[in-house]
Amino acid sequence: MKLNPTHDPQARSWLAAANVEGTDFPIQNLPFGVFRRAGSNEAFRGGMAIGDQIVDLAAAARAGVFDGLPQLAAQACSESTLNAFLAMGPVAWRALRQALFAALHRDADAQTVGLLHGCLVPQAEAEHAVPTRIANYTDFYTSIHHARNVGRIVRPDDPLTPNFQWIPIAYHGRASSVVVSGTPFHRPMGQALPPSAVVPVVGPCARLDYELELGFYIGPGNAMGEPIPLDKVEDHIFGICLLNDWSARDHQFWEMAPLGPFLGKNFCTSVSPWVVTMEALAPYRVPFAHPADEPQPLAYLDAAANRDHGGVDVQLEVLLETAQHRAKGVAPDRLSATSFRHQYWTIAQMVTQHTVGGCNLQSGDLLGTGTISGPTAPEAGAIVELSRGGTVAINLPGTGEERRFLEDGDNVILRGWCEKPGAARIGFGRCEGLVLPAVGT
Ligand code: MN
Repeated sequence: MKLNPTHDPQARSWLAAANVEGTDFPIQNLPFGVFRRAGSNEAFRGGMAIGDQIVDLAAAARAGVFDGLPQLAAQACSESTLNAFLAMGPVAWRALRQALFAALHRDADAQTVGLLHGCLVPQAEAEHAVPTRIANYTDFYTSIHHARNVGRIVRPDDPLTPNFQWIPIAYHGRASSVVVSGTPFHRPMGQALPPSAVVPVVGPCARLDYELELGFYIGPGNAMGEPIPLDKVEDHIFGICLLNDWSARDHQFWEMAPLGPFLGKNFCTSVSPWVVTMEALAPYRVPFAHPADEPQPLAYLDAAANRDHGGVDVQLEVLLETAQHRAKGVAPDRLSATSFRHQYWTIAQMVTQHTVGGCNLQSGDLLGTGTISGPTAPEAGAIVELSRGGTVAINLPGTGEERRFLEDGDNVILRGWCEKPGAARIGFGRCEGLVLPAVGT
């Protein structure tokens, strides 16, 4: 996790919006996504966020801004998904990042600035798609605080399952219903067993929830039967996004024994349009350790580099904007805030666990971290935790409303950023999704 000149907190761009205090997208960030002009028939293509603009990487490849490996990488980004670029691996990712950094730097030569200026599209005029063609999506369950909070609702005497401190637990999710931020979805129908009922009912979800998570995209995959050892994982992870694993708690808790979530999770998963690269996150890596009095990772889940900097300190918050917030023109209310540094397993351990049995990951695959809940009650990453299974009402100061679960018209907004003295603040943008009424209701 060596730092290089692209992490220099003093670096500035010739694009003024990239130098604005508090921007998510300064020159030290350079996250990737796919986009086109909103409402157009243009092909989606790769782009990179800088300030309030997007560098159109297809246009940059045509304009001849780059040469050598950065040019090959930009050509790969010209496709409608980032899969080909992700498959190129860290040497190509780093080369394109360095070339973009140099071309956007205020010391760039006039000819480069002129060429790149013609490749900018305002973020306000763009629409996005999911950044990769996701063949497989897996969602982990790696916050011990979330596991205890939710476990208490289901198993009050024994909230933590015996495997939690030994295995990064996960379920195989549904790739087809992963959508990009801003895509509304319908409240799911399904089967649930209401409290004290003997016979289940079918109907609209009565306990709709969000899950505050990070997602991460696989770069080069691995061959079936060839696990990725822990000390090689970081060559296979391209970067991190915000992820909301929408959950129908009433359907989920009825159906998940004994094989895990099914319809309770498969109706929608939202991701942010921008993927912040692992290289951009290098200044924010933090040590990983399990408490000394708890089980230590088995040998295959342990490595010196993982102990030294396996964690990532990403600040996170959840905002709720109801129909009344919009009608009254008031700002969304914050439901909770925490950091990813509290997670019980690292993303590297998740990848090693995923592949230890020989499972092959593919370029563009999406892995979710599981709900990110911090150690204190206000840091919970799902409403089922904040409302203690729906028994406690959550007040929304902005409108005077209350929530125990999500209602139709609610828009949930996830935000994430990294910030510390001596490093440039970088952000993830937003991941939001609006709850529409169940179909047929
Ligand atoms: Mn989840």
